[in-house]
Amino acid sequence: MIAVQISKAGGNFEVVERPIPEPGRGQVRIKVDACGVCHSDVLVKEGLWPGIQYPRVPGHEIAGRVDKIGPDVTLWKQGQRVGVGWHGGHCFECEPCRRGDFVLCQREKVTAIHFDGGYQEYMVAPAEAVASMPDDLPADQAAPLLCAGITVYNSLRNSGARGGDLVAVQGIGGLGHLGIQYARQMGFRTVAIGRGADKQGLAKKLGAHEYIDGAAGSPAEALQKLGGAKVILATAPDSKAMSALIDGVAPNGKLLVVGAGFEPLSITPLQLIPGRKAIQGWPSGTARDSEDTLLYSALTGVRPMIERYPLEKAAEGYQQMIGGKARFRVVLTMS
Ligand SMILES: [Zn+2]
Ligand SMILES: [Zn+2]
Repeated sequence: MIAVQISKAGGNFEVVERPIPEPGRGQVRIKVDACGVCHSDVLVKEGLWPGIQYPRVPGHEIAGRVDKIGPDVTLWKQGQRVGVGWHGGHCFECEPCRRGDFVLCQREKVTAIHFDGGYQEYMVAPAEAVASMPDDLPADQAAPLLCAGITVYNSLRNSGARGGDLVAVQGIGGLGHLGIQYARQMGFRTVAIGRGADKQGLAKKLGAHEYIDGAAGSPAEALQKLGGAKVILATAPDSKAMSALIDGVAPNGKLLVVGAGFEPLSITPLQLIPGRKAIQGWPSGTARDSEDTLLYSALTGVRPMIERYPLEKAAEGYQQMIGGKARFRVVLTMS
């Protein structure tokens, strides 16, 4: 089979031939139909996650079909349409696992970090990392929902916001263009925050009731004029812009952080205390959360905007993504 691997930190994408992997105990082999290219693939490409063993195949937005079942797997059937996302398995024994909070597993496996991901024709995954995929969702549309989609869907549905509440989505990119759609479908008064007047049309098309041009003035002030946001979903990894949003949060509201930046947020305690405001981070979710994401998307028509590349052109697709040129998610498709 064809695989695209990185053989050292900072190395290039190499298109190689490999034997089709065999599923071990508790694992399934998946015939990959499509794999999304996520910004977090940079962790594998550049070796930014400690302890990665190379060569490693990137890709944690995998849509495909169960191809072979390893010993002791009872949940999955051959030929079943499935997906795998960022959360690649858990130990069932640590403290969070014993409480059923698998995504916080202290020995969490991450797809494409701890085992090879989806930039290849076949991959092997732990059975507990597999999500079933509805038939009416094409693989290339489903793939980005398994990291970008689940992250915004799962954070919003657990945010405490209720129908009619004002929810703002900062950033109209890979995460944000999905966040706006989900917020609208969940019944929130949806406000998109972008940069530039030219983004307004797209924001409205995605379902935003209101658009705030962050380049034209203070988004926090604009939000306060609308009554303040119960939740601001911060998707653009710009810590300065994110920090400035806290003053747009309504009393008892929260800044919900999913855009993974490296710079510190700068927010004073006095910006939080009087309004009893919170800042919360959110990781993606479990395989079962992925299933909910896929089903909800199939039901409501939430879809990613994608650019397709054949697997062999993974390097080109990655360049498009890392250069910020993709509108909005790059997806590798297998021939
Ligand atoms: Zn655990
Ligand atoms: Zn991702």
